[in-house]
Amino acid sequence: MSLRLSPSKLADYENCPRLYEIKHVLKVRQRETSANLPFGSAAHTAFEASVRAHHAGEPDKLNVEDVFNKAWKAEILRTKLIKYSSRWDEQSLLATGRAIVTRFHQLWPKFGLTPLVDDQNVPQLEIMLSCEIEPGVQLRGKLDFIGYDKMGRLAVVDFKTPASATPEGFSDLDDQLTAYQLLVLHNTEMLGVSDVARLGFLECLKRKVSTSGRGKGPEVRAPDLVPARSEEDLAAFVEKVKFNAQCIREGRFYRRPRMAYNTPCGLCDFQELCRTGEAENAASERFGFAPSNVEDTEPDTPAVAVNGDGGGWFVI
Ligand code: SF4
Repeated sequence: MSLRLSPSKLADYENCPRLYEIKHVLKVRQRETSANLPFGSAAHTAFEASVRAHHAGEPDKLNVEDVFNKAWKAEILRTKLIKYSSRWDEQSLLATGRAIVTRFHQLWPKFGLTPLVDDQNVPQLEIMLSCEIEPGVQLRGKLDFIGYDKMGRLAVVDFKTPASATPEGFSDLDDQLTAYQLLVLHNTEMLGVSDVARLGFLECLKRKVSTSGRGKGPEVRAPDLVPARSEEDLAAFVEKVKFNAQCIREGRFYRRPRMAYNTPCGLCDFQELCRTGEAENAASERFGFAPSNVEDTEPDTPAVAVNGDGGGWFVI
């Protein structure tokens, strides 16, 4: 059976195999969606529109805030139940989103990035790529931006909207960027490129818009591009993906709570299911049996929602 992996699914497995099982094998989901997801998605829609408008030489014709607002509304309609953290509500999140996309639109020409285009001069943005790691194991990823830096070097850039900046030097280590380089290298012919020279993040820091004039507010940072991974780095990553894929196929889904000082459990959406062992029951309710194979169908097709209104288990 085919196993489809993505950088985020690999991260889930490495973070905690039991979490991976609940989320990607049993396909349990919370009924409520964190507001971070529709926010990031709406911001990416606006970033993409901005890059396309600049590429077309018509940045002034784009109302990027409008694009963000419409994308947000579409996401809300699609997602329905949104969960806000204690620090945010819809209005403050929207104000931050509008500020970020406006700044992005202003700063984009200064970043010196030119998108890769197809033979119709259409920028290759938000492009889904896949490659076979070994028979039956596929790696997939959606790349925000492939293009050229000021020096004409091919660069893969991931747009992010985190609350705080990634640690210094992390771009040299990040598995997502490694996976993206690998995906481009497996698709050079289709993309019309020969190699990847730079990798990095373009971070848009999701801070509240200040109403008092104090505080830093949202920030769009210049892309932090580092040299692409070496062949040895890529080979080591492929070995790791193969190892994790083997563990997944063998059903090695042990809990990985680690120690109190570095446990992932505090941020785990499935803590209650994990503690009570109810995950299989929740999935059985939906399917009539608990799915036991590890064939990965589309990752965004949840089977079961949990912890909705009034608590308990819910079936979509
Ligand atoms: S609660 Fe902890 S051990 Fe259980 S699935 Fe979540 S992260 Fe893993």
